[in-house]
Amino acid sequence: MQYDYDLLVVGSANADLVIGVERRPAAGETVLGSDLAVHPGGKGANQAVAAARLGARTALLARVGDDAHGRLLLASQDAAGVDTDGVLVGGAPTGVALITVDPSGDNSIVVSPGANARLTPEDVRAAGDLISRSRVVSAQLEIPLETVTEVVRTLPAGTRFVLNPSPPAPLPAEVLAACDPLVLNEHEAAFILGDTPGDAPEDWSRALLRLGPRSVVITLGAQGALVAEGRTDTVVRVPSPRVDAVDTTGAGDAFTAALAWRLGLGDELPAAAAFAVRVGAVAVTRRGAQDSFPTAEEVGAP
Ligand code: ATP
Repeated sequence: MQYDYDLLVVGSANADLVIGVERRPAAGETVLGSDLAVHPGGKGANQAVAAARLGARTALLARVGDDAHGRLLLASQDAAGVDTDGVLVGGAPTGVALITVDPSGDNSIVVSPGANARLTPEDVRAAGDLISRSRVVSAQLEIPLETVTEVVRTLPAGTRFVLNPSPPAPLPAEVLAACDPLVLNEHEAAFILGDTPGDAPEDWSRALLRLGPRSVVITLGAQGALVAEGRTDTVVRVPSPRVDAVDTTGAGDAFTAALAWRLGLGDELPAAAAFAVRVGAVAVTRRGAQDSFPTAEEVGAP
């Protein structure tokens, strides 16, 4: 089978509006802050840019508003080399994250999903061709769950599905059963499990496998990741290179995109995760989200 895309990302695109403040305001209070910075973001848009920067032939299925933020997002995807034919325009303003961040790095965030909430199952059905031309399809949960469920129903046999359940939500059995892998951090794992079966992530991964995904990858920040596969009944740790982290924003997106791409190239899951921790480690040494994503050359990969 010839595929036009190594990876299709179905997900969100947001404008991140960031203001630095001395102190985050209490209810009813007004504080003055820095100049406004506007960055392209959203997990879908980030993961598409991360994959394209590594060299993956990448497409994005998303929805933005017919406004300046939407044009900013399309421009950043185009600049990274992502195919944006699947980005729908209109229906609501572009999704926005209003972020205030204080000098200690603590932030307060309000998200307006906007157009992301209007990416519908019907949009997925209309994009069936894009899905069938993609080797791997990935999604996150900043778009409606019924839209992600429709992606799963539309997948041709042989197309690999990667889900990053962020922000976490209860997942239908048919979505869980399609995940190969489910990629999530410890907080998301705790949410999905409801209660945490012991302290060891190994135990968490086994409990997650019992919910139905074919494989599970738990990201562990500076500790790297843990890979659990149902078909081989194995759980392995994949350590991260040691680096001086300056900003972990987008690390999870860089990791997931790298993992999905390498799986599409034919890597086994532990090898794909070993590549993804190297990508995540580079991303945390740089500021920003999309600005921090490395090329394959910078990761020292062929
Ligand atoms: P975020 O929400 O900050 O994007 P996350 O919580 O989804 O990230 P993490 O587990 O924190 O996910 O990080 C994802 C991956 O990034 C890790 O598996 C690891 O490979 C890399 N990473 C994160 N933090 C560090 C660090 N301090 N040093 C090296 N690698 C890191």
